[in-house]
Amino acid sequence: MSIAENVAQVRERIAAAARRAHRHPEEITLMAVSKMVEPARIRQGHEAGLRVFGENRVQEFADKVGSVKALDGCDWHLIGHLQSNKASKAAELFHGVDSIDSLRLAEKLNAAATGLRRKLQTLLEINIGGEAAKSGLAPDSQELASILRAAPTLQALQIRGLMALPPFTDNPEGARPYFRKMRQLRDAIADRKFPSVTMETLSIGMSHDFEIAIEEGSTCVRVGTAIFGERPQP
Ligand SMILES: *Cc1c(COP(=O)(O)O)cnc(C)c1O
Repeated sequence: MSIAENVAQVRERIAAAARRAHRHPEEITLMAVSKMVEPARIRQGHEAGLRVFGENRVQEFADKVGSVKALDGCDWHLIGHLQSNKASKAAELFHGVDSIDSLRLAEKLNAAATGLRRKLQTLLEINIGGEAAKSGLAPDSQELASILRAAPTLQALQIRGLMALPPFTDNPEGARPYFRKMRQLRDAIADRKFPSVTMETLSIGMSHDFEIAIEEGSTCVRVGTAIFGERPQP
């Protein structure tokens, strides 16, 4: 199937999942994950109407940005772990960083974006399965609370919600309890009304489980394989 056909099919599945959950499909952003995807195929995705893209690595995007920056109206987000020594490069290249996982990184990004007179859309990444191999903030951590409290001083960052990658299970239903916990955490943080923080975005759901994520309240699904096909192994 072509990329355009894949995009159409993913959009239909998003709409069907939204209807099942009595939600409006327009509430859900389709982020196309274009890591390891070459610019010509990204361009095909753009022609099929994709406008929000997720990349995993600063260096990979730095290498291809020249070939994709002419595409109209695109929003590029970093969704992979960011080392603080690459914060200034990330602030320069991306519109959003969805993988903030420490106060130190938030401060570095804020300083870099301030220097560039840019505003960055950001999400806080939560390690919802408590997995040692994954980055992200523990849901009940002091570190998470510190970032939320520091938001008014992080003036170049718009903290807009949470992102998570639950433990992988063959059966996508295995992700449901983690998605539900993410929704509850998002709502609990929103209730506390931290100044300069909104919780409008809940970025959960990937190719094999995005419908379940939508049923559980996702507002942004990050879909790679179902749009661009299997990735080559790095
Ligand atoms: C690769 C990746 C995705 C997309 O995964 P697919 O299974 O290909 O849809 C989503 N989110 C993050 C953080 C990723 O690294």
